[in-house]
Amino acid sequence: MSEPILKVEGVQAKYGDFVAVEEATLDVPQGIIVSVIGANGAGKSTLMDTIAGVHKPTAGTITFKGEDITGMPAEKVVLRGLSLVPQGSRCFIRMTVEDNLVMGSYPKAARAKVKDSLERVYELFPVLKEKRNDLSGSLSGGQRQMVAIGRALMTNPELVLFDEISLGLAPTIIKDIYARIKQISGEGMTVVLVEQDTKRAIKTGEISHVMLKGKVVLSGRSAELGEEEIKKAYFGL
Ligand code: ATP
Repeated sequence: MSEPILKVEGVQAKYGDFVAVEEATLDVPQGIIVSVIGANGAGKSTLMDTIAGVHKPTAGTITFKGEDITGMPAEKVVLRGLSLVPQGSRCFIRMTVEDNLVMGSYPKAARAKVKDSLERVYELFPVLKEKRNDLSGSLSGGQRQMVAIGRALMTNPELVLFDEISLGLAPTIIKDIYARIKQISGEGMTVVLVEQDTKRAIKTGEISHVMLKGKVVLSGRSAELGEEEIKKAYFGL
């Protein structure tokens, strides 16, 4: 397996005095799908926000493509090729689908490629092309999630963190979105998938990391860990 594109070592993140991520250590090898699993409140979203520069860590280091990005603001992290699709990602409902997507290409380097990036997103999600001039407020939940994913892809990232993108969506839509994620992974993009559904996570991620109460308590190749071991770590049994 290749050198990790992302290394998270001993990361701690707090809200005031409350420690949401106590000690997170994990590697993400380049070009594969990695799942991060854990129950409600395990610290998954806080860890993703911290990696993406949305939340500042209070300890530890985050290394992306060999560069220390610990505490770097999100707008700079994006420029380096790391994008986040945040949990509950919403689009701007009074803006058209296309304007929502174009907003994702705000870094200068991405702006130059906006046409190509749009075409790529439309290839991935043809329904967005059909609806590109519609207000995002008229879209279904699944289509809005596609817009949120598309927006993150507009910067041509090398690594994308997807934070519970399946939440509240119908099974057929989830299946479709996951197929598209596998497609972009197959094209060389590295993917981190935050999931509460352990079965789906193991099936999709080549490697799984399990978080429990702010710590990464289990890591390994999904096929070797197996569902039972992962479930035990998930519930802290
Ligand atoms: P979920 O699956 O519910 O999103 P999670 O694993 O992503 O859970 P986090 O959202 O990172 O977990 O939350 C970790 C802990 O931090 C929880 O105890 C949560 O209540 C707390 N927390 C999250 N956001 C905040 C905040 N803005 N202020 C204070 N505490 C927060």
